[in-house]
Amino acid sequence: MSADKELARAAWLNEADTKAVMGALQADGGVARFAGGCVRNALIGEKVSDIDIATTETPERAKALLEAKGIKVVPTGIEHGTITAVTPTRHFEITTLRVDVKTDGRRADVAFTGDWLEDAKRRDFTINALYCDADGTVHDPLGGREDLKARRVRFIGDAHQRIREDYLRILRFFRFHAWYGKGDPDAQSLRACAEEREGLRKLSGERVRDELLKIAKADEAGAAFRQMAASGILAVVLPEASRLDRFEKLVAIEAQQLFVLDADPIPRLGAMLDLDADGVKALAARLKLSNKDRDRLTAMLTDKTKIVCYLSMREVRRALYLMGRDLFKDRVLLGWAEDRPGHNTFQWRALLAMADSWQKPELPLTGDMIKAAGVPEGPEIGRVRKEVEEWWIDSDFIDDEFSIIERLKAVVQATVY
Ligand code: ATP
Ligand code: MG
Repeated sequence: MSADKELARAAWLNEADTKAVMGALQADGGVARFAGGCVRNALIGEKVSDIDIATTETPERAKALLEAKGIKVVPTGIEHGTITAVTPTRHFEITTLRVDVKTDGRRADVAFTGDWLEDAKRRDFTINALYCDADGTVHDPLGGREDLKARRVRFIGDAHQRIREDYLRILRFFRFHAWYGKGDPDAQSLRACAEEREGLRKLSGERVRDELLKIAKADEAGAAFRQMAASGILAVVLPEASRLDRFEKLVAIEAQQLFVLDADPIPRLGAMLDLDADGVKALAARLKLSNKDRDRLTAMLTDKTKIVCYLSMREVRRALYLMGRDLFKDRVLLGWAEDRPGHNTFQWRALLAMADSWQKPELPLTGDMIKAAGVPEGPEIGRVRKEVEEWWIDSDFIDDEFSIIERLKAVVQATVY
C-alpha cells in the first residue's frame, strides 16, 4: 500500500459513526484528525478500542457542529478542551488543539491553538503523537513512526520536565513500554522516571489505580513491575507489592494458557499482595478501589478453603458451592501461581474448566415442606434448612427428594420440640 492514505482501510475509520463524527467536525472549514492510541495501534496492527480525535474547532463550536448533525455530545472535560461524542456504536473523545500553559504536576491550565505541532509537543511520548486524517493519511510531526517501529517509548522533549508537568507520565511510561515496547526501556527515560518518583505522591489515588491496573493487564506486566521495583517507583505507589514472584508466575501462566484475551487485573493485583483484611482495606482506601474489588481481594487473600490441584470432583463441587465460582477461580489462580512452574498444568486447568461449567445446585426443600414436617413458622425454619443443607452438601448434592425428606424428618424429630 502506498504511504499516503496508509490507514484508509482500517475498519474503525470506515465505520458509519466514525465518518459521521469526522464529517460533522469538518463541516464548517475546521480540521479534525484521529490522534493518539488509535493511530498508534492501527499502525502496528493492534486492536483499536477507543478513538481520540483532535480538532481545530473550539469545544463549544465542535459541540454545536456535532449536535447540528444529530450527534449526542457530553461535555466531559470541556474546560480542558475535551468533549465526548456519543454514538450508538462508539464514544469519541474530541479534544481541541491545545498547549499546556501552566502545570502543577497533576493537571494543566490549557490554551487552544491552531498549531498541530504545538498540540503534538504537549503529548507524552513520540509514539502517542501520531495523527491521521479522515481519509487515512498519517501525520507524524515528531518522529513517532520510527520509535514505534523500533518499539521504543520515549518522552517528547526533556523527560524530567515532562514528568514534572504531570507525574502520571512515569506510570504511563511503564504502561506503554509494557504494552508496545520491546527489549529494555529507554535508559534515559527510565532514569528520569526513577529520579522523579517522589512526585508520584502528589497524584490522586484514582489516577494511580487506573494506571497500575492497566500496567498489570499487559503481557509484559511482570517485567514492568520488576523495573518499577528496581527503580524505587513501586515503593512509592504500591509498597504492598511483596509478592512480585507470584505475580510474575500468574502472568506467565495466563500467557501460556491463552485463556485470557482480556486479562482481569484484580487477581493479578491480588497475586502481588500478602495482606490481611486490614491491609487490603488500607490499600483500597488509598487507591480508591471499588467496594466490589476490595471485597474480592480480601476474599482471595484471606479465604482458607483448601485449594490444591488434586481436588476430587466432589471436593470441587463442595468448594464451588461454599465459595462461589469467582472466589474459587481466584483461589485456583493463586494456587497455580504458587505451584512449581510447569507443574500440574493439566490439573489446574481442569479446575478452572470445572468452575466454568458448574451450575449451582439448589437444595430442593421449600419452607412449606419444612412446615409440613412440623416446624413452626419463624427462625426455626431457617435453622432446620441449614441443618439439612449441611448434610446435603456432604452427600454431594444428592437430588433424591425422598432421601432429603427422610433427613428433614430426622432433623425435626431430634431437634424441634
Ligand atoms: P489507550 O487509549 O490505548 O490507553 P492512548 O494513547 O489513546 O492509549 P489515552 O490515555 O487515551 O491514551 O490518551 C490519548 C492521547 O492523549 C495519548 O495518546 C497522548 O497523546 C495524550 N495524553 C493522554 N494523557 C496524557 C498525559 N498525561 N500527558 C501527555 N499526553 C497525554
Ligand atoms: Mg485512547
